[in-house]
Amino acid sequence: MDGLLHDAMDLWRRSRRAIAFTGAGISVPSGIPDFRSPGGLWSHFDPQEVASIQALHANPTGVWEFLLEAVTMFTRAKPNPAHLALARLESCGKLGTLITQNIDGLHQAAGSKDVVEFHGGCQRFYCMRCKREYDPAAAARLTRNDIPWLCACGGLIRPEVVFFGETIPHEAMRRTGEAVSEADLVLIVGTSGEVAPANLIPRQVKADGGHVIEVNLGPTAFAGVSDVRFDAPAEVVLPALADLVCA
Ligand SMILES: [Zn+2]
Repeated sequence: MDGLLHDAMDLWRRSRRAIAFTGAGISVPSGIPDFRSPGGLWSHFDPQEVASIQALHANPTGVWEFLLEAVTMFTRAKPNPAHLALARLESCGKLGTLITQNIDGLHQAAGSKDVVEFHGGCQRFYCMRCKREYDPAAAARLTRNDIPWLCACGGLIRPEVVFFGETIPHEAMRRTGEAVSEADLVLIVGTSGEVAPANLIPRQVKADGGHVIEVNLGPTAFAGVSDVRFDAPAEVVLPALADLVCA
C-alpha cells in the first residue's frame, strides 16, 4: 500500500482543489450494511413498497416500519476512522466539498462541514401537510406504537430523504455541479459507480484534466477512470492518506 499512498499523495500535492464522493461502503464498518447487501435493509424490505413516494401515501405504516429500523440503526452508529479522516482532510484545508449518497449523517457526526447529501438525510423531519419541522432526537425515541409518525395537525411526518420516485433536490444538484466544475481531484470512497451521479462525477473531473483516486473493495465501474486505486478498507487507507496529505 505504501507505493499507492505515495502516488495518491503526489496527485494530491499537485492538485488545487480536491473533493470527495462517498457511498454506502464507507459506513459498513460503522455497522450499517449496504441496503443492497445480505443483512441490509433491502434484504427484508422491498424498496418500492417502503421507500417510494407512492408507498408513503398509500402505506404510511409500512414505510414507517422501515424508517424506524433505519433511524434506529443510524442513531446507534458512530463515525469510523474513514469518516474521521475525511473530516480531518477538510479541517487541514486539503479537501473541499464532500458529496455523499449516504443518508446516515455520519460525515457530519465526524465533523465534516461542507457536505452535500445527494439523497437527503435522516436527521431532518417535517410534516408533509403544514411543513412544521420535527426534532430528529424525537424520531430516535419512536417505538412501533408511535408509527406512522403524525404531526399535531394530523399530517404525516417524513424525513428529508429522497424516496424512489422523487427527484434529487435542486440545491444538491447545484452544489454538486459547482463542486465538480471547480475540482481537479476527486476521491471516491465506498461506491462502485454503477448509478448516476457516481459514474459521472469522476468522468467529468477527468474530462477537465483532473485526477481520480479510488478507495473501494472489489471490482467497480471505475476501471480505466481511476489514476490511483486502493482495493483496501477505507478505514485503513484514509487515515494513512490524511496523515500524509495533512502533514
Ligand atoms: Zn403538520
